[in-house]
Amino acid sequence: MAGAKTIFKRIIDREIPAKIVYEDELCLAFHDVHPQAPIHVLVIPKKEIPSAAELSDEDQALAGHLLLTVSKIATQLGLEQGYRIIVNCGPWGGQSVDHLHLHLLGGRPLNWPPG
Ligand code: 5GP
Repeated sequence: MAGAKTIFKRIIDREIPAKIVYEDELCLAFHDVHPQAPIHVLVIPKKEIPSAAELSDEDQALAGHLLLTVSKIATQLGLEQGYRIIVNCGPWGGQSVDHLHLHLLGGRPLNWPPG
């Protein structure tokens, strides 16, 4: 249905529950419902940006804020041994929710290259 809220917009609007680990005026972070590592957190902007491909110049500060926030959450969650930040973009990038999100994965050694 055109104009339907994404699942992440519904989390922002508190229509469905999530295990929130951080929130400020620009973004929200919560645990992924299907974790791929012991720590798997999603950081999303409150602004409805469908994907990284649709960031615009006016989002420059917001994009930086999202990256800094991931880094701060990684420290907060004790990922001093390292972690991975992933942004899936578009169908071939493996994106399944059309609201920009940064994955924070950690808590175990992570393989490279990804699939
Ligand atoms: P993508 O595949 O788009 O890069 O990542 C979307 C992520 O959102 C997936 O890792 C998926 O497990 C997670 N996800 C999908 N629906 C929900 C939900 O309702 N709650 C939470 N917390 N995570 C979700």
